[in-house]
Amino acid sequence: MPTTILVAGGAGYIGSHTVKYLLKNNYNVVVVDNLVYGHKEAVLTPNFEQIDLADKSALDRVFKKYKIDAVIHFAAFTYVGESVVDPKKYYWNNVVNTLNLLDVMIENNVKNIVFSSTCATYGNPQYTPLDENHPQNPINPYGKTKLMMEQIMADYEEAYGLKYAALRYFNAAGADFQGELGECHDPETHLIPIVLKAIKGDIPNIKVFGTDYDTPDGTCIRDYIHVEDLADAHMLALEKIFKDNKSIHINLGTGIGTSVKEIIQAAEEVTGQKVPLVYVGRREGDPAILYASNNKAKELLNWTTKYMDIKEIIKTAWLWEKGDKFKSNKDYLTVN
Ligand code: UDP
Repeated sequence: MPTTILVAGGAGYIGSHTVKYLLKNNYNVVVVDNLVYGHKEAVLTPNFEQIDLADKSALDRVFKKYKIDAVIHFAAFTYVGESVVDPKKYYWNNVVNTLNLLDVMIENNVKNIVFSSTCATYGNPQYTPLDENHPQNPINPYGKTKLMMEQIMADYEEAYGLKYAALRYFNAAGADFQGELGECHDPETHLIPIVLKAIKGDIPNIKVFGTDYDTPDGTCIRDYIHVEDLADAHMLALEKIFKDNKSIHINLGTGIGTSVKEIIQAAEEVTGQKVPLVYVGRREGDPAILYASNNKAKELLNWTTKYMDIKEIIKTAWLWEKGDKFKSNKDYLTVN
């Protein structure tokens, strides 16, 4: 089993939770992050290197300094809308910089990588729940960058013996149950934090994008998966590819669909407060229904989702949202 894991993008939302989880499970963790969107206070290991994946020689130094055994790679730009108007930003960062990381891995004889992919690689669903065999036809540059990397890694497996786990996330949600870490995007575009910010009064209201979808209540249905369950899946996936020496593609979701209106209602129940909202038109590119078949994750990884109830997920997000963000991590503020 690997002992020292490099986490690229370990200062970001899912990355920071995974770092915490790996540390709890006695892995030695090294975080690489350029802090463009990440937060230094979210890095819970002293082994932190602020470098950009564009800087291959800096990356190579990190691999040699810490004797890296395996990689978990979260570092990417993830705003779908932005990827449409500024695709080069996405292709350079999500594809070219990831190629740098793969190069350095191969040069240092590191063969195992867990890669953040996305259900956006499927595009508009032809059926639900989405399983891993669903055709992949992404409809925006963000989804395309992730599919390209899956395809490139398949070629690298053939040629260089790389072993990868492509984890296709559905909607990551929630926060660390101890309130130590959480979602902190700027700008924030995701439904649950926006709903909670509207409740807090940080923003005037939440705009519900579309009420005329072909769903029971007319609003979009998504599969919200708790970030700690994602963290667990990353560790299990890494152990699996290491043990079997075989690459895998896996969906990560709860298998449960929840509508926008159901999220709002659940948030009202959790917080005991009304959500100020306005109904507006559809957001471009939003499919009506997306939820996962997670059978493969359960079977291959022996993965179980701890957070099945959307109210439990929202509770952790609320604890984070109303708290003093990263307060318990101030010891780490001086880390360089
Ligand atoms: N959504 C919404 N208002 C918002 C943000 C999101 O109605 O301010 C809806 C969006 O249309 C989608 C769902 O909430 O149906 C989840 O959106 P999010 O951006 O969180 O994740 P996505 O599914 O786009 O990755």
